[in-house]
Amino acid sequence: MNNELLKKYSELVVRIGINVQKGQKIVINCPVECADFARLMVTAAYDAGASDVFLNWRDDYISRERWLKADESVFDNVYPWDSDKRLTLAEEGAGFISVSASNPENLRGVDRKRLEASEAAASKDEKLKRARQLLMNNSCPWTVVSVPIPSWAKKVFPNDNEDIAMEKLWAAIYNAVRIKEDEDPVRAWEKHCNELEKHASELTSYQFKCVRYKNSLGTDLTVELPSDHLWIAGGDTAKSGVRFVANMPTEEVFCAPKKDGVNGVLYSSKPLTLYGNVIEGIRLEFKDGRITDVQADKGKDILESAINTDEGSHYLGEIALVPYDSPISNSGILFYNTLFDENASCHFAFGEAYSTCIKGGENKTVDELKKCGINAESAMHVDFMVGTSDLSIIGETHDGREIEIFRDGNFCI
Ligand code: ZN
Ligand code: ZN
Repeated sequence: MNNELLKKYSELVVRIGINVQKGQKIVINCPVECADFARLMVTAAYDAGASDVFLNWRDDYISRERWLKADESVFDNVYPWDSDKRLTLAEEGAGFISVSASNPENLRGVDRKRLEASEAAASKDEKLKRARQLLMNNSCPWTVVSVPIPSWAKKVFPNDNEDIAMEKLWAAIYNAVRIKEDEDPVRAWEKHCNELEKHASELTSYQFKCVRYKNSLGTDLTVELPSDHLWIAGGDTAKSGVRFVANMPTEEVFCAPKKDGVNGVLYSSKPLTLYGNVIEGIRLEFKDGRITDVQADKGKDILESAINTDEGSHYLGEIALVPYDSPISNSGILFYNTLFDENASCHFAFGEAYSTCIKGGENKTVDELKKCGINAESAMHVDFMVGTSDLSIIGETHDGREIEIFRDGNFCI
């Protein structure tokens, strides 16, 4: 681990990821194994003017023990003090930093009924619902970032010993988040976000009626888009007007599909890590937006649990374009971590849409967003990868023009 680079990285997360403001409260969700990184972020946050910083520590071992051994009843409810805390901080406009680092198969063998009960409880809890919406409509800035931990590094580089695997994963992550020895990453990020945003405004200007996906895996899918949709990329703007970057890395240009306008068959192109399990070979069928058939070569029961969480999780909430020829994709590394894998591949998410994908959506109520036609209410938002080197995407405009958006996996507009 290079201390100089780690310091640069922590400052990048605080300055570009959250863009910490004077007097703001900051919440950091972080695995205990990444304590060095958390400490540096805490310092950077206070130095940037944060009034207070709170840590929620996580640990794979302790999580697994709890999922396996805690009393069954604890998964049926959300602790009120937990949802109170999250909602209070979200309402105050706190910034939320999550460090995503976990053994991808940490929960293998855990009783799926426990996972389902816990998701169902989180889905029904009114305060958590409200806190989730405040994040989804950019009322408060949030960012997801990542640093390696040994169990994860070994999954990504199984043929190397732990030290080498960790070194390789560090290098891959620094490469993905544009941290280099002699360069200012803040400037590199500003340039990168500007370029992505240009693509997004071009797509928005077409106001496509629908887009059609086809590739040799068997994907044959039509996705309608709602009126007044916006394609988004790079940075986001919080309601306070402050810019932030929700995912580091980010390579995607994304939008929200029309909830009842998805028809056809969709195949995944990379494994998906979900609930501490790896799911492979996903095939979903859609009719009028709803998922009508779920298949997977591995982990089908876990995928079904996630899709069955609530009504909204049976529908898509995000459509995202990432060129096959993009930096993370070109690294050839399968990360088993959605933050990276989704930024190496075109993807969709089932579950709740980002209200910011509709013009003025951040100020609309859930009912108003439903009227706009997007998937406005679900406890879930699960991205899964579908991009391939031969993916073709054709957009159809309202006046019947066909515009080629993707040819052989890459943008051609
Ligand atoms: Zn996405
Ligand atoms: Zn997403």
